[in-house]
Amino acid sequence: MNADLVVVGSGFYGLTIAERCAVEHGIKVLVVDRRPHIGGNAFSERERTTGIEVHRYGAHLFHTSNERVWDYVNRFTAFTSYVHHVYTTYRGEVYPMPINLGTVNQFFRSAYTPDEARALVAEQSTEISGHEVSNLEEKGISLIGRPLYEAFIRGYTAKQWQTDPKDLPAEIISRLPVRYTYDNRYFNDTYEGLPRDGYTAWLERMADHPNIEVRLDTDFFDSSQPINSRDVVGQVPVVYTGPVDRYFEYAEGELSWRTLDFTEEVLDVGDYQGTSVMNYADEDVPYTRIHEFRHFHPERDYPTDRTVIMREYSRFATREDEPYYPVNTPEDRARLLAYRDLAKGEDGVLFGGRLGTYKYLDMHMAIGSALSAFDNKLTPFLRGSQKLVSGGVAD
Ligand code: FAD
Ligand code: UDP
Repeated sequence: MNADLVVVGSGFYGLTIAERCAVEHGIKVLVVDRRPHIGGNAFSERERTTGIEVHRYGAHLFHTSNERVWDYVNRFTAFTSYVHHVYTTYRGEVYPMPINLGTVNQFFRSAYTPDEARALVAEQSTEISGHEVSNLEEKGISLIGRPLYEAFIRGYTAKQWQTDPKDLPAEIISRLPVRYTYDNRYFNDTYEGLPRDGYTAWLERMADHPNIEVRLDTDFFDSSQPINSRDVVGQVPVVYTGPVDRYFEYAEGELSWRTLDFTEEVLDVGDYQGTSVMNYADEDVPYTRIHEFRHFHPERDYPTDRTVIMREYSRFATREDEPYYPVNTPEDRARLLAYRDLAKGEDGVLFGGRLGTYKYLDMHMAIGSALSAFDNKLTPFLRGSQKLVSGGVAD
């Protein structure tokens, strides 16, 4: 095999490592991926009949406040000025998300000022005051009061996680801002936008280097393949971005994940819902949201009489499904610690990315984490001053 480094997984983590090592150290990198395409979950392609770019694994919005990541990604793509906004339907009425003064005033049919709305929410969350919040439900009520929580969070979260919000960690909801202004921007980051020529063009540019070879349809654990774990590990250094429990043949038990099912439809209307993402808060609507992809690129010349929508459904993953979101129960956390110990003992293999660390990472976090691993692990290793080993799977 003509490679100095094997990278398992062609998502943002794997491609960042491959690109940096090929450019900065001039080594030959072989990237393998079991899927038939590059890019992991960020992969997108144009729907055949309309030319509308569809994000195959769910809508991906790029946003970051990390200057280094922003500089880095701009080497491979320009970004549009798209700013993400989300709306939610509850009992037949549409409200802006995340919860802001507009949502509060519409819900209570009122015209509260920011201070009045704060006072109302404080009054509606007194049941939580005075003790530490210990789960998502308590955190939600403490942030927005019970009535808003029950309308916009409880049903959506129960559908999305298939778990009672009382049994979910409080952190999940901390991702979502609450604002006492009419600002309903979804993200708070300094930089935001969508890749002008699409995600796949961006990902392909990262891999476009004479020292990088990408082999698709290649499962690292399939020993009938020329590049497989049995022949590679111990012979060539490896950066592994697949599921950590799979690597160790589930020796410490399976880590639990949620997966998503998407149903795509091409409709004979120019605009189905007037916005890119509509959440559905009611528990009796089986899907969590509908994506309408044309709205991600208003600058493009898309057909005006057809549109592409995708409904998103959530459920627990089996081994055969694509793992999307780590569930992170207390049992999962105990198993993860055991896997981190195993990973530390795996000389010559670095575990990284969303699946390799069992962490929900946004794209900018996966890229930022790969840039740090390049500095702190791969560069010292390639200069001969350090072994290649995970300092815990959390790298
Ligand atoms: P991945 O992209 O998952 O890549 C891992 C790769 O490893 C995959 O291609 C897989 O096929 C391959 N692999 C696994 N096992 C093997 C094996 N045995 N052999 C060979 N190859 C293997 N982030 C944002 O910033 N904004 C968003 O709006 C956003 N939306 C998201 C929506 C959804 C539904 C999901 C699931 C994620 C979203 N993300 C978003 C997160 C984003 O997808 C991740 O940050 C990014 O994919 C992480 O890259 P990665 O390289 O770690 O993992
Ligand atoms: N959430 C909710 N209602 C909404 C949107 C989000 O209850 O309309 C909660 C839900 O628990 C979700 C969390 O907020 O898991 C984080 O939302 P985000 O949109 O960041 O989820 P993602 O896009 O990662 O699926």
